[in-house]
Amino acid sequence: MDERLANELALLRDFGFTHLDVRAQETGDREQVVDATSQAELLDEMAKVAGACQKCKLARTRTNVVYGVGNPSADLMFIGEAPGRDEDLKGEPFVGRAGQLLTDIIKAMKLTRDDVYIANVIKCRPPENRNPEPDELEECRPFIRRQIEIIKPKVIVTLGRFALQSLMERGYAISGARGQWLDFNGIKVMPTYHPAYLLRNPAAKKDVWADMKKVMAELGT
Ligand code: URA
Repeated sequence: MDERLANELALLRDFGFTHLDVRAQETGDREQVVDATSQAELLDEMAKVAGACQKCKLARTRTNVVYGVGNPSADLMFIGEAPGRDEDLKGEPFVGRAGQLLTDIIKAMKLTRDDVYIANVIKCRPPENRNPEPDELEECRPFIRRQIEIIKPKVIVTLGRFALQSLMERGYAISGARGQWLDFNGIKVMPTYHPAYLLRNPAAKKDVWADMKKVMAELGT
C-alpha cells in the first residue's frame, strides 16, 4: 500500500473511524469517499472528532476548536491559516477583521459565506496568534484533507503562505505561487494572499482580485 495512504488510514483509525466505505470511482482519489451518509453528517462527525482532539499543545490553550463553516457540497473552498482571538471565542473561522475582508471578497465574487466552505489548516488558536509550528501543522493536516475529501470542491483558494505550504506539503513562496493554478489530488488550487496581509498592504488587493477573477472564470460564476 502507498505509504501516504497507509499513514492517512492510521490517522483516521486514531481519530475513531472503524470503517470507511471507499468505492473505486471512475475519476480517481477525490471521488473515492463516501457512502450514503450526507456530506453534512460526515463533516459533523469529523467536527466532533476535532472537538475532542488533544494531539498537539494547542489543545491546552484553545477556547473552541474552529473546524469550518459553510456549504458541505461547496464548489469553492477557502482555506486559511489558523483561528485568531475572535475565531477562538466564537468557534467560527474568519469572523474578525481579516474575516470581514474575506466576506467582502466573497460578496464581490457574487457569492455568500453560505455558498462556499471556509476552514483553516490549523483548527485551534496558536497563543498570541504566533505562527503555527511544524508539529501542529502535521497533526492537524488530516482534518483539512478529510474536509476536502468530503466536500469535493471544484476549486480551493489558499489564503497566505501557511495554508498553501501545509496543504501542498511544499515550501512554496507565496509571492511566486500566487495567482498560478496548482493541483491538489485533481482539484484546482489558487494560492492568494491572506486577508490579514491585505489589511496591512491594501495595494495588494488588486492582485487578490485578479486571482479571484480566475477562480470565477473557472467556476463559471
Ligand atoms: N486568519 C486565519 O487564517 N483564519 C481565521 O479563521 C482567522 C484569521
